[in-house]
Amino acid sequence: MNSIDRLNEMIEQAESVVFFGGAGVSTESGIPDFRSVDGLYNQEWKYPPETIISRSFFDKNTAEFYRFYRAKLNSLGVKPNAAHLKLAELETAGKVRAVVTQNIDGLHQLAGSRIVYELHGSVLRNYCMNCGKFYSAEAVFGSDGIPRCNCGGIVKPDVVLYEEELDDKTVQGAIDAIARCDLLMIGGTSLNVYPAAGLIRYFRGKNIVIINRSPTPYDSKADLVIPGKIGEALSGININ
Ligand code: NAD
Repeated sequence: MNSIDRLNEMIEQAESVVFFGGAGVSTESGIPDFRSVDGLYNQEWKYPPETIISRSFFDKNTAEFYRFYRAKLNSLGVKPNAAHLKLAELETAGKVRAVVTQNIDGLHQLAGSRIVYELHGSVLRNYCMNCGKFYSAEAVFGSDGIPRCNCGGIVKPDVVLYEEELDDKTVQGAIDAIARCDLLMIGGTSLNVYPAAGLIRYFRGKNIVIINRSPTPYDSKADLVIPGKIGEALSGININ
């Protein structure tokens, strides 16, 4: 039995599937991840991405933060790929109970997924740090320099920067979903970013599948590892 047939068998037998993913889910849509060879770590920036998208860097070098942010994390106009679309179809079919994502691009919702725990927030929501007024992604990506509110405050994306804490309610929702499912599909993540990656430890179900282009620290604990492109692998899932 090939690995896609095995994946189909596991999904068919499962009552409740949760997908846990990261930046690799969106590379087939054209958004670079951090750690692949063509990822952001290997591009020409003065600082590593983790430094630039940290809270202390945002506070001290706000204009440089926004230069990187606009150049590398703009998902406006980007289309969901086969992986996002299949996960949305699986939710409609009653198989996938939730998507837990480290991504901030909003592509799962654009594909039609409804229950999405965005552990690191979303570029689609932005708030004035002074008065709390909401700003769209269009307003922030379409502005120059440091985006400012009418009140003069800095507009900040609702994105969890390094050194910032994850939102409690989102984390709790993700933990509950992972703890209750019987099949956990993990994909497009190096499982290197904590505390997000640690949430998969709450899994108590039957099978773990990892679909990733490169090895992860969790491969030895998985029941099935599919080393390849997630869009291609998920395209092979049959929905009855
Ligand atoms: P990562 O860059 O650390 O790892 C990505 C993993 O995905 C790698 O192991 C890579 O081999 C794999 N991968 C890349 N393309 C793939 C594909 N098509 N199919 C299967 N596997 C593929 O990403 P991470 O683990 O998510 O951690 C980085 C942090 O940066 C996270 O917080 C992440 O959300 C954030 N980030 C988000 C975006 C986004 O929202 N699209 C983009 C860049 C970084």
